[in-house]
Amino acid sequence: MQMEDKIIHYTSDELIRVSVAVTRTITQKARTCHNLSPVASAALGRAMTGAVLLAGDYKNHEGVSLKFNGDGPLGAVHADCFDSHYVRGYVDHPQLDIPLKANGKLDVSGAVGQHGQLSVTRFTPEKMTYTSQAELVSGEIAEDLAYYLLTSEQVPSTISLGVLVARDYSIAASGGFLVQALPGARDEDLARVEANITCIGPITSYLSGHPDGEELAGIILSGMHYKELYRQPLSWRCTCSRDRIKNVLMSLRPADKEELLNDPQVEMTCQYCGARYVISHDELVALFEQKET
Ligand SMILES: [Zn+2]
Repeated sequence: MQMEDKIIHYTSDELIRVSVAVTRTITQKARTCHNLSPVASAALGRAMTGAVLLAGDYKNHEGVSLKFNGDGPLGAVHADCFDSHYVRGYVDHPQLDIPLKANGKLDVSGAVGQHGQLSVTRFTPEKMTYTSQAELVSGEIAEDLAYYLLTSEQVPSTISLGVLVARDYSIAASGGFLVQALPGARDEDLARVEANITCIGPITSYLSGHPDGEELAGIILSGMHYKELYRQPLSWRCTCSRDRIKNVLMSLRPADKEELLNDPQVEMTCQYCGARYVISHDELVALFEQKET
């Protein structure tokens, strides 16, 4: 059964916001584009889902860019969500293979590293950007994002992210949720939400049994009055294009241009999506002449 990737936002009368993201197709796409190992799929899938949950209101076409720069062997994990519904990402060492944890689970924390920094860049509709940073607390991605939200944005949040990788390395489930208390939320309601969340169990197992995520908010906000605010499909998309690559080439220093002209063609690969662009020598000559006129 194929489920469409999506984000759904809910709000309750008790001043609690819940966002649920289903990202299996996006994580699968990333796996295929970058030939990700299982642990790299889990780390990047979690990070991209986190980016979706942190991105702003779709009406404002906001975006967020996350970079988990840990001291683990996976290197940095990059995840972007732009226009609130397009997602892309990559990791420095996509084929990293490390032993499973003692409990048989993928060791995301061991891959990302438990020390380092999380950088969060927010893009607003006015094209202004703000970057802030927090220390990584566990390298598990969700906890790192929750710590960031609390310390840098002063929003107490519960965030849960999970990716289930099948034996054939395909993505069986991917998604997560974000719960935030709006100002004025009562402690007893938050305690109830916390108890409700424990009923879900591990998010990865939950999503493998309920891949559409439609009932998650009902469990989290059980016993409360809530409504769906809006929902939106999500898709894997990169911002790279032949024109952008050409712009990069045109902006090179004259000496670098000269050097490129010695080659029969120029090949560039987009690190975000793996797309390969080949610019022929003739095209390059035309391009560089165009700049001078
Ligand atoms: Zn690209």
